[in-house]
Amino acid sequence: MKKFKTIQAEFTVSRKEYITPHYIRVFLTGEQVSSIANTTVGVNNKILIPPKGAERVHFPEFDYDKMMWKPQSEEIRPSIRTYTHRGIDLEKNEIWIDFVAHGDEGPASAWALEAKKGDLLGVLMKDGKTELYGKAENYFLVADATGVPVLAAILEDLPATARGTCIIEVHGKEDEQDLQTLADIQFIWLHNEHPQQGSRLAEVVKQQVLPEDSRSGYVAAEFSSVKEIRSYLRKEKQWKQEELYAYSYWKSGVAEDKSAVERHKENAENEAG
Ligand SMILES: Cc1cc2nc3c(=O)[nH]c(=O)nc-3n(C[C@H](O)[C@H](O)[C@H](O)COP(=O)(O)OP(=O)(O)OC[C@H]3O[C@@H](n4cnc5c(N)ncnc54)[C@H](O)[C@@H]3O)c2cc1C
Repeated sequence: MKKFKTIQAEFTVSRKEYITPHYIRVFLTGEQVSSIANTTVGVNNKILIPPKGAERVHFPEFDYDKMMWKPQSEEIRPSIRTYTHRGIDLEKNEIWIDFVAHGDEGPASAWALEAKKGDLLGVLMKDGKTELYGKAENYFLVADATGVPVLAAILEDLPATARGTCIIEVHGKEDEQDLQTLADIQFIWLHNEHPQQGSRLAEVVKQQVLPEDSRSGYVAAEFSSVKEIRSYLRKEKQWKQEELYAYSYWKSGVAEDKSAVERHKENAENEAG
């Protein structure tokens, strides 16, 4: 099994801000900020939330033979969740991550809600630059709140010659973010106060006139929406594998570590078609 170089960094919270009522941006600082400089904004990372009162983050070791983390004792074991590298400022020595504030039933959302200056967080990331999305003339970008950070990074990266549609579902009107892009993008914002109870994303995707050529789609949302949207674009609209990146970011009613196998199987459809 190929081993990639992994960045393993312990950070502390330097500050946090509510960018919208349901979105918390947490700024992190530490000696290893510069080690993240050579990654692509918008790629995913793993955050490690240490147990309350811990004085350091105990990073688990990855067992490449079994493709799983080696077990750790409960007193030191961090909760591990997947997030998005949203930004870096080397002068201020900070990186930041945007958290959907979906309540305190999950360790990551609860951590962000309570986070204060000095709190510890571990971060694991693959080192090196990655191509975040497929390049084309026409873009079709779809996300729920969890996918806003990756779409924001894609939008910031698009050239002025690009055009497309961006459909984003957030909690309410006040959660619509002012996303920056040079491209000619039509934004469609949907509101959903209860994303755990279902979403209109797939229905609205099916109402759109889709680009026929030179197209690139990116979908990041809840499991059921991604499954339906992928099936629609690939099977009904004959989008080719390389024209669509679609990733299930969470599964309603299931904690991330418990839904990982199912989501990865579903994400593997990207490759299988
Ligand atoms: C590649 C990738 C990148 C991601 N990037 C981000 C990111 O930048 N920002 C971000 O906020 N999320 C992101 N996510 C989604 C995030 O990992 C999940 O939402 C995760 O479940 C949050 O962990 P938790 O500890 O808060 O809740 P968990 O312990 O995983 O889940 C507890 C309960 O909360 C529910 N739940 C989880 N997420 C939500 C939600 N958003 N809304 C409503 N209910 C929810 C679960 O279904 C479960 O019932 C990303 C996921 C992936 C795979």
